[in-house]
Amino acid sequence: MVCTVCGNDEFRDSKVLWPRLIAEWNLSSAEVAYIDRQQGTQCTRCGSNLRGIALANAIREVVATAKTLVDFVNTSEARRLRILDINGSSLSATLSVLPLYTRADYPSVDMQSMPYEDDQFDLVLHSDTLEHVPFPIEALRECGRVLSDDGCLCYTVPTIVGRLTRDREGLPPSYHGDSNQGGYDFMVHTEFGADAWTFPIRAGFTSVNINTVSYPDATAITARKKLFIR
Ligand SMILES: [Zn+2]
Repeated sequence: MVCTVCGNDEFRDSKVLWPRLIAEWNLSSAEVAYIDRQQGTQCTRCGSNLRGIALANAIREVVATAKTLVDFVNTSEARRLRILDINGSSLSATLSVLPLYTRADYPSVDMQSMPYEDDQFDLVLHSDTLEHVPFPIEALRECGRVLSDDGCLCYTVPTIVGRLTRDREGLPPSYHGDSNQGGYDFMVHTEFGADAWTFPIRAGFTSVNINTVSYPDATAITARKKLFIR
Protein backbone atom coordinates (compact mmCIF):
# COMPACT_ATOMS: atom_id res chain seq x y z
CA MET A 1 0.00 0.00 0.00
CA VAL A 2 1.12 3.52 -0.81
CA CYS A 3 0.15 6.62 1.16
CA THR A 4 -1.61 8.77 -1.44
CA VAL A 5 -1.12 11.81 0.77
CA CYS A 6 2.70 11.77 0.61
CA GLY A 7 3.80 8.77 -1.52
CA ASN A 8 5.47 6.82 1.30
CA ASP A 9 4.89 3.06 1.55
CA GLU A 10 5.74 2.35 5.19
CA PHE A 11 3.07 2.10 7.86
CA ARG A 12 2.98 1.38 11.57
CA ASP A 13 0.10 -0.11 13.58
CA SER A 14 -1.27 0.88 16.96
CA LYS A 15 -4.40 0.03 18.93
CA VAL A 16 -6.82 2.92 19.37
CA LEU A 17 -9.94 1.47 21.02
CA TRP A 18 -10.31 1.08 24.75
CA PRO A 19 -12.47 -1.42 26.72
CA ARG A 20 -15.19 1.01 27.80
CA LEU A 21 -15.90 2.20 24.26
CA ILE A 22 -15.89 -1.39 22.95
CA ALA A 23 -18.54 -2.27 25.55
CA GLU A 24 -20.65 0.86 24.92
CA TRP A 25 -20.70 0.18 21.20
CA ASN A 26 -21.28 -3.60 21.60
CA LEU A 27 -18.41 -4.25 19.19
CA SER A 28 -17.37 -7.75 18.18
CA SER A 29 -13.68 -8.68 18.13
CA ALA A 30 -13.71 -8.48 14.30
CA GLU A 31 -15.17 -4.96 14.49
CA VAL A 32 -12.54 -3.96 17.06
CA ALA A 33 -9.79 -5.25 14.76
CA TYR A 34 -10.94 -3.26 11.75
CA ILE A 35 -11.57 -0.06 13.66
CA ASP A 36 -8.08 -0.32 15.17
CA ARG A 37 -6.74 -0.74 11.64
CA GLN A 38 -8.82 2.12 10.26
CA GLN A 39 -7.71 4.56 12.93
CA GLY A 40 -4.40 3.14 14.12
CA THR A 41 -2.50 2.22 10.93
CA GLN A 42 -0.47 5.29 10.05
CA CYS A 43 1.98 6.40 7.39
CA THR A 44 5.41 6.65 9.02
CA ARG A 45 6.24 9.82 7.04
CA CYS A 46 3.14 12.05 7.09
CA GLY A 47 1.16 10.41 9.90
CA SER A 48 -2.00 9.89 7.83
CA ASN A 49 -4.12 7.00 9.02
CA LEU A 50 -6.19 4.83 6.68
CA ARG A 51 -9.25 7.02 6.96
CA GLY A 52 -7.11 10.05 6.06
CA ILE A 53 -5.86 8.19 3.01
CA ALA A 54 -9.44 7.24 2.06
CA LEU A 55 -10.37 10.92 2.35
CA ALA A 56 -7.35 11.92 0.26
CA ASN A 57 -8.46 9.45 -2.42
CA ALA A 58 -11.98 10.90 -2.41
CA ILE A 59 -10.46 14.36 -3.00
CA ARG A 60 -8.09 13.06 -5.70
CA GLU A 61 -11.03 11.50 -7.50
CA VAL A 62 -13.08 14.73 -7.30
CA VAL A 63 -10.24 16.82 -8.72
CA ALA A 64 -9.28 14.02 -11.15
CA THR A 65 -5.60 13.83 -10.27
CA ALA A 66 -3.24 10.87 -10.05
CA LYS A 67 -0.77 12.97 -8.01
CA THR A 68 -0.29 12.51 -4.29
CA LEU A 69 -2.06 15.18 -2.26
CA VAL A 70 1.32 16.71 -1.36
CA ASP A 71 2.11 17.14 -5.07
CA PHE A 72 -1.40 18.22 -5.99
CA VAL A 73 -1.32 21.27 -3.68
CA ASN A 74 1.51 22.66 -5.84
CA THR A 75 -0.71 22.84 -8.92
CA SER A 76 -2.59 25.92 -10.18
CA GLU A 77 -5.82 23.92 -10.08
CA ALA A 78 -5.37 23.34 -6.35
CA ARG A 79 -4.70 27.03 -5.79
CA ARG A 80 -8.13 27.85 -7.26
CA LEU A 81 -10.01 25.39 -5.01
CA ARG A 82 -12.19 26.95 -2.36
CA ILE A 83 -11.94 24.42 0.47
CA LEU A 84 -13.83 24.32 3.75
CA ASP A 85 -12.14 21.95 6.24
CA ILE A 86 -14.47 21.29 9.17
CA ASN A 87 -12.60 20.32 12.37
CA GLY A 88 -9.51 19.23 10.48
CA SER A 89 -7.92 15.86 9.82
CA SER A 90 -4.51 14.38 9.07
CA LEU A 91 -4.81 16.16 5.67
CA SER A 92 -5.14 19.65 7.12
CA ALA A 93 -1.41 20.39 7.31
CA THR A 94 -1.10 19.57 3.60
CA LEU A 95 -4.20 21.46 2.44
CA SER A 96 -3.86 24.54 4.65
CA VAL A 97 -1.04 25.95 2.46
CA LEU A 98 -3.63 26.67 -0.25
CA PRO A 99 -4.74 30.32 -0.58
CA LEU A 100 -8.50 29.62 -0.61
CA TYR A 101 -8.44 27.18 2.31
CA THR A 102 -10.82 27.86 5.24
CA ARG A 103 -10.76 25.99 8.52
CA ALA A 104 -13.89 25.78 10.71
CA ASP A 105 -13.65 24.39 14.23
CA TYR A 106 -16.33 23.45 16.72
CA PRO A 107 -17.57 25.13 18.92
CA SER A 108 -16.90 28.50 17.29
CA VAL A 109 -18.44 27.10 14.10
CA ASP A 110 -21.53 24.90 14.50
CA MET A 111 -21.73 22.49 11.58
CA GLN A 112 -25.53 22.69 11.67
CA SER A 113 -25.50 26.47 11.15
CA MET A 114 -22.31 27.76 9.54
CA PRO A 115 -21.39 31.44 9.07
CA TYR A 116 -20.78 31.15 5.31
CA GLU A 117 -22.63 32.28 2.21
CA ASP A 118 -24.50 29.89 -0.09
CA ASP A 119 -22.34 28.41 -2.88
CA GLN A 120 -19.11 29.63 -1.27
CA PHE A 121 -16.95 26.48 -1.55
CA ASP A 122 -15.90 23.90 -4.14
CA LEU A 123 -14.94 21.26 -1.62
CA VAL A 124 -16.18 20.67 1.92
CA LEU A 125 -14.32 18.16 4.10
CA HIS A 126 -14.87 16.56 7.45
CA SER A 127 -13.41 13.48 9.04
CA ASP A 128 -15.07 11.54 11.87
CA THR A 129 -17.08 14.58 12.93
CA LEU A 130 -20.64 13.79 11.82
CA GLU A 131 -21.18 11.23 14.60
CA HIS A 132 -20.76 14.03 17.17
CA VAL A 133 -23.39 16.35 15.68
CA PRO A 134 -26.89 16.14 17.23
CA PHE A 135 -28.68 16.34 13.85
CA PRO A 136 -26.39 14.84 11.18
CA ILE A 137 -28.81 15.36 8.28
CA GLU A 138 -29.09 19.05 9.17
CA ALA A 139 -25.28 19.25 9.22
CA LEU A 140 -25.04 17.59 5.79
CA ARG A 141 -27.74 19.89 4.42
CA GLU A 142 -25.68 22.85 5.67
CA CYS A 143 -22.59 21.44 3.91
CA GLY A 144 -24.67 21.34 0.73
CA ARG A 145 -25.83 24.92 1.18
CA VAL A 146 -22.29 26.34 1.32
CA LEU A 147 -21.15 24.24 -1.69
CA SER A 148 -21.35 25.46 -5.27
CA ASP A 149 -23.63 23.41 -7.55
CA ASP A 150 -20.70 21.48 -8.98
CA GLY A 151 -18.97 21.25 -5.60
CA CYS A 152 -18.39 18.08 -3.58
CA LEU A 153 -18.56 17.03 0.01
CA CYS A 154 -15.95 14.44 0.99
CA TYR A 155 -15.98 12.92 4.46
CA THR A 156 -15.35 9.95 6.66
CA VAL A 157 -17.46 8.67 9.52
CA PRO A 158 -16.89 5.64 11.74
CA THR A 159 -19.17 2.96 10.33
CA ILE A 160 -20.08 -0.50 11.60
CA VAL A 161 -21.00 -2.08 8.29
CA GLY A 162 -22.79 -5.14 9.69
CA ARG A 163 -25.69 -3.21 11.18
CA LEU A 164 -27.85 -0.17 10.59
CA THR A 165 -27.27 3.29 12.00
CA ARG A 166 -28.51 3.91 15.51
CA ASP A 167 -29.10 7.12 17.41
CA ARG A 168 -27.58 6.93 20.89
CA GLU A 169 -30.40 8.97 22.41
CA GLY A 170 -31.70 7.11 25.42
CA LEU A 171 -28.50 5.07 25.66
CA PRO A 172 -25.73 5.79 28.20
CA PRO A 173 -23.53 8.64 26.91
CA SER A 174 -20.51 7.52 24.91
CA TYR A 175 -17.45 9.60 24.07
CA HIS A 176 -14.62 9.43 21.60
CA GLY A 177 -11.47 10.09 23.55
CA ASP A 178 -10.75 8.19 26.74
CA SER A 179 -10.92 10.55 29.71
CA ASN A 180 -8.23 8.42 31.38
CA GLN A 181 -5.86 8.87 28.46
CA GLY A 182 -6.70 12.43 27.42
CA GLY A 183 -7.63 12.88 23.80
CA TYR A 184 -10.69 14.41 22.23
CA ASP A 185 -13.70 14.02 24.39
CA PHE A 186 -16.75 14.55 22.21
CA MET A 187 -20.03 12.82 22.88
CA VAL A 188 -21.23 10.47 20.16
CA HIS A 189 -24.82 11.06 19.01
CA THR A 190 -24.97 8.64 16.09
CA GLU A 191 -23.37 5.27 15.46
CA PHE A 192 -23.35 4.92 11.69
CA GLY A 193 -24.02 1.60 10.02
CA ALA A 194 -24.57 0.16 6.55
CA ASP A 195 -27.14 2.83 5.70
CA ALA A 196 -24.64 5.69 6.29
CA TRP A 197 -24.76 6.43 2.53
CA THR A 198 -28.44 7.42 2.76
CA PHE A 199 -27.72 10.41 5.00
CA PRO A 200 -26.32 12.73 2.30
CA ILE A 201 -29.15 11.71 -0.04
CA ARG A 202 -31.70 12.53 2.66
CA ALA A 203 -29.89 15.87 3.09
CA GLY A 204 -30.49 16.80 -0.55
CA PHE A 205 -27.37 15.56 -2.36
CA THR A 206 -28.14 13.70 -5.58
CA SER A 207 -25.27 11.22 -5.81
CA VAL A 208 -23.01 9.38 -3.42
CA ASN A 209 -19.76 7.58 -4.12
CA ILE A 210 -17.78 5.50 -1.65
CA ASN A 211 -13.99 5.36 -1.85
CA THR A 212 -12.39 2.38 -0.19
CA VAL A 213 -8.75 1.93 0.81
CA SER A 214 -9.38 -1.25 2.75
CA TYR A 215 -12.86 -2.70 3.29
CA PRO A 216 -14.40 -2.30 5.76
CA ASP A 217 -11.56 -0.51 7.55
CA ALA A 218 -11.27 2.70 5.61
CA THR A 219 -13.90 4.28 3.42
CA ALA A 220 -14.75 7.86 2.52
CA ILE A 221 -18.00 9.21 1.14
CA THR A 222 -18.22 11.74 -1.69
CA ALA A 223 -21.59 13.46 -2.11
CA ARG A 224 -22.44 15.68 -5.09
CA LYS A 225 -25.22 18.24 -5.30
CA LYS A 226 -25.67 17.75 -9.04
CA LEU A 227 -24.08 15.42 -11.51
CA PHE A 228 -21.61 17.32 -13.68
CA ILE A 229 -19.87 15.24 -16.32
CA ARG A 230 -16.29 16.32 -16.85
ZN1 LIG B 1 2.03 9.64 4.06
